[in-house]
Amino acid sequence: MRVLVTGGAGYIGSHMVKMLLGQGAEVATLDDLSCGYRDAVVGGEFVKGDTGDRACLDALFGRRKFDAVMHFASFIQVGESVRDPAKYYRNNVTHTLTLLDAMAAHGVRSFVFSSSAAIFGEPDYTPIDEAHPKRPINPYGFSKWAVERVLSDYDRAYGLKSVSLRYFNAAGADPDGQLGERHEPETHLIPLVLQAAAGRRPSVSVFGDDYPTPDGTCVRDYIHIVDLCQAHLLALERLRSSGQSAAYNLGNSRGYSVNEVIRTVEAVTGRTVPVERAPRREGDPAVLVADSKRAMDELGWRPRFNELETIIRHAWTWEQKRHPTATEPGRRQA
Ligand code: UDP
Repeated sequence: MRVLVTGGAGYIGSHMVKMLLGQGAEVATLDDLSCGYRDAVVGGEFVKGDTGDRACLDALFGRRKFDAVMHFASFIQVGESVRDPAKYYRNNVTHTLTLLDAMAAHGVRSFVFSSSAAIFGEPDYTPIDEAHPKRPINPYGFSKWAVERVLSDYDRAYGLKSVSLRYFNAAGADPDGQLGERHEPETHLIPLVLQAAAGRRPSVSVFGDDYPTPDGTCVRDYIHIVDLCQAHLLALERLRSSGQSAAYNLGNSRGYSVNEVIRTVEAVTGRTVPVERAPRREGDPAVLVADSKRAMDELGWRPRFNELETIIRHAWTWEQKRHPTATEPGRRQA
């Protein structure tokens, strides 16, 4: 099987490339390295380029016949999307259209799309199933929902088949310790708490402690990166066997509060995490938990690393490998 992975140098894409190679797939990565890292691409062909560059796509698709495209290349910061929506609509929507049009022109008809729980906005109920109303509350969420709508129209009109996977909170790292999360700047809770545990930042801010949740802090559904990638493989299989488009919510159907994450990091690392109270972050719903029954029933998906402790342990191994000198808890590195 030949698969083109866009954004294959990023956090989720790089783990996907590794898993596909492990399955014996022929893989090409397309990444402009605006957020990704060349050394995170552990094999296959690498092309530095942009999904909005039609000439680059035509050259790639003209060189060999891909069976499928997995599309991870997108910007992901909610706050930035509010400040600079043009950047998000251009990259996440317009460039995706260019990619889809190039696929259609070259007869590539299978597409796996990185969507997000952000398409749901403030939930009416949790756990959130696929039928939940889609009411994104920021440009990032709108950009993902716009592409999902495009995909259903492209299926009807051009026969392009897709699976959209709505990630809840992707977390953790490659259990081999070879890959992990590298965002610049880092905004995600688990890596930030681990950095505080390692002494690489003075403290971690808890955004709001007066939410209507058991301990007042936000509850999220953390899903291990390997389980997430596994769902992509199953989605590809389903596309090939059934030829039907679909969308799935991917999480562990279990939520953990910000305070629980911090306590689990302390237990895993044996370090104390200095914590500061901070105001609520705009656009953060109190609880986001997935109902992933459809992915389990239709894809046969079974998350293996569904314990928060395992997710954090793998992320901690990666953090220590990348920064072996940061050993003093609570102390800032010079
Ligand atoms: N969070 C926090 N402090 C931080 C970063 C995140 O309290 O420094 C909270 C955030 O408000 C949310 C949860 O941790 O409730 C997960 O946030 P993250 O940015 O990791 O993922 P998101 O839920 O936004 O996709």
